[in-house]
Amino acid sequence: MSVKAQFVTHVVENQPLALPAYNAWTTDPALQNAVERNGGGWGAAALAAHGATTGSVMMELGDQANRNKPVLRSFDRYGRRIDEVEFHPAYHQLMRHAMQAEVHNFSWRHQDDVGAHVVRAGLIYLNGQPDSGTNCPLTMTHAVVPALRNAPALAKTWLPHLLKADYDPQVAPVAAKAGCTFGMGMTEKQGGSDVRRNTTRALAQPDGTYELVGHKFFFSAPMCDAHLVLAQAEGGLSCFLMPRVLPDGTLNAVRIQRLKDKLGDWSNASSEVEFQGATAWLIGEEGRGVPVIIEMVALTRLDCMLGSAAIMRQALVQAIHHTRQRSAFGRLLSDQPLMQNVLADLALESEASVALAMRVARAVDAAQRDPGEAAFARIATAIGKYWVCKRAPGFVNEAQECLGGIGYVEENILPRLYRQAPLNSIWEGSGNVQCLDVLRALRREPETREALFAELQGVKGENRALDDQIAWLKAAFDDHNSLEGRSRAVVERTATVLQAAQLIKAAPDRIGDLFAEARLGPEASFAYGTLDPHADLGRIVERAMPH
Ligand SMILES: Cc1cc2nc3c(=O)[nH]c(=O)nc-3n(C[C@H](O)[C@H](O)[C@H](O)COP(=O)(O)OP(=O)(O)OC[C@H]3O[C@@H](n4cnc5c(N)ncnc54)[C@H](O)[C@@H]3O)c2cc1C
Repeated sequence: MSVKAQFVTHVVENQPLALPAYNAWTTDPALQNAVERNGGGWGAAALAAHGATTGSVMMELGDQANRNKPVLRSFDRYGRRIDEVEFHPAYHQLMRHAMQAEVHNFSWRHQDDVGAHVVRAGLIYLNGQPDSGTNCPLTMTHAVVPALRNAPALAKTWLPHLLKADYDPQVAPVAAKAGCTFGMGMTEKQGGSDVRRNTTRALAQPDGTYELVGHKFFFSAPMCDAHLVLAQAEGGLSCFLMPRVLPDGTLNAVRIQRLKDKLGDWSNASSEVEFQGATAWLIGEEGRGVPVIIEMVALTRLDCMLGSAAIMRQALVQAIHHTRQRSAFGRLLSDQPLMQNVLADLALESEASVALAMRVARAVDAAQRDPGEAAFARIATAIGKYWVCKRAPGFVNEAQECLGGIGYVEENILPRLYRQAPLNSIWEGSGNVQCLDVLRALRREPETREALFAELQGVKGENRALDDQIAWLKAAFDDHNSLEGRSRAVVERTATVLQAAQLIKAAPDRIGDLFAEARLGPEASFAYGTLDPHADLGRIVERAMPH
């Protein structure tokens, strides 16, 4: 035996090849179906173009941007305060690709076209698969528009920049910028969900501006060109636009105290800030801050739902890809009956998530024209945000398990998806807050209940388990006794019923019935992989990721 041969211990075999570049739109029939069904089919070319990028070059960029976390640079080398966040070049490239694809403004650029919000929902869903962190400034930039319209003069200054497809990271006044980005600051140390406890003060100045003194405990994407922030003015809690750089080119008095050391979301910077007399402009009226900023939050909540659905989709793609190449006990894992059941069950959950999110996007799109759709958007955003985001962590863990040990190793995207997965259920109103919001909608806007059950009317008689649950829900909503304490159970069931209804209406191959029976029927289980084994599970997996 030669010396060289002594070092040859084994041949590497039965290990999959990494997922090659793919088009995340053309390989996703469930997404295409949901977008088409909800009026966004005309955006297929834009979605296919972005899907080609998100499934290829952005996968590598996402990896780099998350391995190299942003760093706070408080001072320049001469000791001057600069409050800058330094990002890896991959982050900037991700932002560039996303803004070129109009992830941050497609709905507004095409606002006269029915379905524009649905197409944009598809864009951000694709964008969230290689990296979730950049979706944070992108969703806030998109969502700021309805709130900004409460201040026509500010909208006139800022909207033309927001409507551009250029990513411009330079620190400069808005007038000198190509594109611009927005963030939002509500959460303070003494209260996040309960923003009425905000203590940041806003002092009116003779020139019509305000001076803000106080802090924000969570302030994501601090390098955005402006943030909408809540602060206490003389007339009560109010919403302000606070630019990073003032029109004269000086840095606004916003000190970034430190960056948060987060569980995940590593490509994105989240900070703690102090406002040391920062200049801001009032949006809407004093004392009406919450209703104004809620217009922004309603849209970011929809994007939380889409973001969690995107994380689940990417985890599913990885699981299917891996199990199709790895064999154990003489057969490919993907052909083993029990693994096939797990994959098919994950595929159903993924499709149900995107189906519900796109249905809500359609309601948002139609809200201006149709009061029934506005009511549906109002309540279904909170319902979907609660449930779709809640499902993501367990889903990713199950997908990790499909890969075995490799799924737990950092060279793989799954650990990153797992760290990211809990975030959407926490920010933009945590789970309980969403459930309470559903109750608030039912109480104050009874038309939301009508819109909800009108949506379900169309599937009456289609599936026994679904019919039973709709009847249960009506009774549960009408029983006001201890409804708050029961609201998680009720909202979860409503979300699942809505998902089943979407799939029964439109998905092929009895997917909707299978989902309804697995999630709502007497044999419903907690774990994935418990579908009726007599169903054509191979076909469901094939639909989820065509060969
Ligand atoms: C990575 C990251 C980035 C963030 N970025 C931003 C940002 O850019 N801007 C911003 O403004 N905020 C941001 N946040 C803050 C986030 O929105 C808040 O953390 C969240 O809204 C919860 O507020 P809180 O942390 O103060 O918790 P609390 O308000 O103390 O809530 C704690 C728990 O109590 C529950 N709860 C609250 N009220 C009730 C009730 N009446 N009944 C039952 N349960 C209740 C909540 O659902 C939650 O589960 C970020 C958070 C994270 C983790």
